[in-house]
Amino acid sequence: MITAGPTREHLDPVRFITNGSSGRLGLAIAHQLKKAGASVTVVLGPTSEQPSRGIKIHRVTTAREMNKKVLHYRNPDIFIATAAVGDWRLKNPSPKKWKKDKKRSHIIKLIRNPDILMNMGTWKEKVDSPCLIIGFALETTRLIPSAQKKCKEKNCDLVIANFPATFSSDKIKSVWVEKNGNVDSLPQLSKNIFAKKLLEWIVNHEPI
Ligand code: C5P
Repeated sequence: MITAGPTREHLDPVRFITNGSSGRLGLAIAHQLKKAGASVTVVLGPTSEQPSRGIKIHRVTTAREMNKKVLHYRNPDIFIATAAVGDWRLKNPSPKKWKKDKKRSHIIKLIRNPDILMNMGTWKEKVDSPCLIIGFALETTRLIPSAQKKCKEKNCDLVIANFPATFSSDKIKSVWVEKNGNVDSLPQLSKNIFAKKLLEWIVNHEPI
């Protein structure tokens, strides 16, 4: 199971908060896993990218919908969280369009969204599942310590740290941080080559 793409949180029927994720990385990984014979399900946020044939796609919009879908299908052999999930949402989005009235500013209060990867990590620990969990960490500073922290906190087997330039690009430069403490820096690669490398890593660490 793979999460991919951005999530979208509405403010009113026409406006929303999102981020620049294209979903390309998750779909490239899905493609390689499918080619290797895996049965692949992608929970995909709003994107115009086209998935390869033979991959099961569940389209979602919000982080809560993505979370619900992942938890519904929980118990995968491998869980890969490539989605750039929005951490925040409006508590009560307006059913009507906000009017551009005379107010000079508009204050909005955001509340936290569920952390899907954290939920899967907690589930893995609780049921002592052999599920292989792979997370991503998009960082601007302190790349390796942040990835190490996420790996531990979210109970991952591997966290792949990368940079904001990865968004909507065909390339990715990354640092792989494993649960056992290994750190490996990879040069800039196309997302397809990167996905092949991840497949190799998975084959070497497969729990089944
Ligand atoms: O946002 P953050 O840097 O914590 O993301 C790290 C990892 O956690 C990514 O793999 C992302 O897909 C996942 N994540 C998630 N649900 C969230 C936030 C992040 O699954 N609400």
